[in-house]
Amino acid sequence: MNGIWGRSLLLLALLAAGCLVLWPIFGETTAISAFVAALLAIVALNLHYVSMLLKWLRHPTPEAEPQGFGIWDEVFAALYRMLRRQRHSESQLTATLNDFRQASAAMPDGMVILDQGDRIEWCNPRAEQHFGLDCQRDTGQQITYLVRHPLFAEKLRAQNYGEPLTLRQSRGFDLILSVQIVPYGDRQKLVISRDITDLERVETMRRDFIANVSHELRTPLTVLGGFLETISDSRVADNDLLRRSLPLMMDQARRMQNLIEDLLTLSRLESAHTPLRDERVNVPDLVRALYHDAMALSAGRHRIAINIECGNWLVGSEDELRSAFSNLIGNAIRYTPEGGEVAINWQRRGDEAVFAVRDNGIGIQPQHIPRLTERFYRVDRSRSRETGGTGLGLAIVKHVLNRHQGWLEVQSEPGRGSTFSARFPAQRVVPEETEESLTA
Ligand code: ADP
Repeated sequence: MNGIWGRSLLLLALLAAGCLVLWPIFGETTAISAFVAALLAIVALNLHYVSMLLKWLRHPTPEAEPQGFGIWDEVFAALYRMLRRQRHSESQLTATLNDFRQASAAMPDGMVILDQGDRIEWCNPRAEQHFGLDCQRDTGQQITYLVRHPLFAEKLRAQNYGEPLTLRQSRGFDLILSVQIVPYGDRQKLVISRDITDLERVETMRRDFIANVSHELRTPLTVLGGFLETISDSRVADNDLLRRSLPLMMDQARRMQNLIEDLLTLSRLESAHTPLRDERVNVPDLVRALYHDAMALSAGRHRIAINIECGNWLVGSEDELRSAFSNLIGNAIRYTPEGGEVAINWQRRGDEAVFAVRDNGIGIQPQHIPRLTERFYRVDRSRSRETGGTGLGLAIVKHVLNRHQGWLEVQSEPGRGSTFSARFPAQRVVPEETEESLTA
């Protein structure tokens, strides 16, 4: 800036000096006229460059860069450098965008970006295939108008983005998708879809296989068990060897029968063909009945308490809830040494209802807790077997709770005991006033 001012002032000073030189030679009028003419020439030249600049700015290409003189040469050169830099970053941006497009097109997962109002901002070709979208046409549309699935809409509405959702799409062929919603930035969301059709097919085959094998084994085992009992009652059992081996054989047969029953229960719970029955379950009465079963199972070896703190019922399947609750109670008794205490509770926690079983038994080390609901996962294999465990009890509990949109919470300290809580969301809890009218 100083340079420009300096040069402009120098030019004016030169003109003024020229005028002063002309004054004594040609007189006052000629000197002032020459000074004004020179000023007008400078203004005209500047206007010419401004018009060149405006013309160039309308279509700024490096090839048509205007050439100037003095200050204008510098202005044009600075603008030219700016244009070059802009062109360079534009081409870098285009290259990055192309790379991103190619990478997103090659991705095996579908991706859709949603704005704050769940409208589509962008999606990749795989998402177009998965959801039947056309990114060009559907940009700006509400995703729930195009992906019409109640569970998906509910997940978006409730802003519950934790677990992925399994969606079955029918696009002329059956497509099973695992859909995950990831919030980011300013209330935007990324919807990631993965085709799990093959995985689900293998999983179904595995489930069917286990169910079929269990089913096939059930009858022969029942027959064997029946004969073993008949033999143990008969005189043949007087034989010394038989007397010793028969109880062992009967015990093993019973274990296998329990195992098969638990495997069949799990298959039923996992099967998509077994919808959850939505009956109103009188949980307080159910818990009282289970308390009596617990007394029988403990046979006086434990102190068992029951606390029914609320009268709420649940909406769900009575058989499944009974099976889950009795598994938790059975475990508390089996893993609590003689003389220990077991407390069975039914209570409200905010909107939720909770069935909790607390014991002061052997407890569980923290590293085992996340794996307890896996099939056949046992902390102490021999203790589980000795007490008649199949290793499937908590897997059954987890499935039952999942089917009721509930979840299992485990708190435990080795040597001090455990609390297993089955938590049910508000939508499964029947308000108490409704039950009074039901029982009236
Ligand atoms: P199991 O038939 O072996 O009891 P479960 O699936 O019911 O199978 O339980 C898995 C494992 O969790 C058990 O083997 C045991 O180690 C542990 N467990 C379950 N409940 C309790 C409890 N109340 N106290 C201590 N350990 C428990």
